[in-house]
Amino acid sequence: MQRLNVKQSQIRECIEKSLFAVNKVPRFHKGEILLLQLVKDEAREFGKLQERIEFALVYDRCEIDHTGVISRQHWPQAGKTWEYILVCSDTIPTIPFSLEDLPLSKNYAGQTNPLAISQEDEAVISSYVWGRLNGYALRDTFGPSLVKEALANYDVVNKPAQPRKILIPEHEEFYRDTLLAESLKSIYDHRCQVCGMNFKIKYEKPFSETHHIHSLSQGGLDISKNIIVICPNHHRIIHKTSAEFDRAKFLYKYPNGYEERLILADHFEQKSFWT
Ligand SMILES: [Zn+2]
Repeated sequence: MQRLNVKQSQIRECIEKSLFAVNKVPRFHKGEILLLQLVKDEAREFGKLQERIEFALVYDRCEIDHTGVISRQHWPQAGKTWEYILVCSDTIPTIPFSLEDLPLSKNYAGQTNPLAISQEDEAVISSYVWGRLNGYALRDTFGPSLVKEALANYDVVNKPAQPRKILIPEHEEFYRDTLLAESLKSIYDHRCQVCGMNFKIKYEKPFSETHHIHSLSQGGLDISKNIIVICPNHHRIIHKTSAEFDRAKFLYKYPNGYEERLILADHFEQKSFWT
């Protein structure tokens, strides 16, 4: 795991294209996690001193850029170029955090890029990285409000994507991120966002489903803002009647005119700073 310092004006390209640039030959292994840390002055300016890290890159390979062509193409405003471009396979959200607030053995302050994280400290940090914990374990460790922030950031890095198809022998299906669905269920404690139905209280078993408001087969995306946590009854009746969701009013409108307003809408209202 590595820590990379990045300016706010450059981070957007990093998270959208899964790229970073450095002047030292990188000696990373494929799949290594690179934490994108907002430089301290800007973190202070944007009120993000407790949330300097919100995204990470998954390292794939390095490309040489001695002429600066690639640097200028991606960061034309930077006024400088870099020797090496880190080409990453993915951008993932983290639970928003700052290294300074964690009980680590070393100090990772300063401008050095990249800065290697010790194995001992990586063990502390890795639970903040998307995919290490999910569902209730994620919510109970970090609390629903930080999970909601991470979900809004998930949408930022996954937004440009078309719905992804995956091949299951013999037929095609749309890819669904189960971590995303389980994390959403956990912030509502598996209650139905339409009626509040809570199976856990009655049956001592958390039980809920997720529904894509704009279906994947019609081009809807697998992102949190397009997913609702729902009880099986509401799931079926919404499909059966082709009920329409009114995003402005947070309500489902049925063909007979009946309307049902969401009683739980937290994650639809959650804004990402990076949108
Ligand atoms: Zn319901």
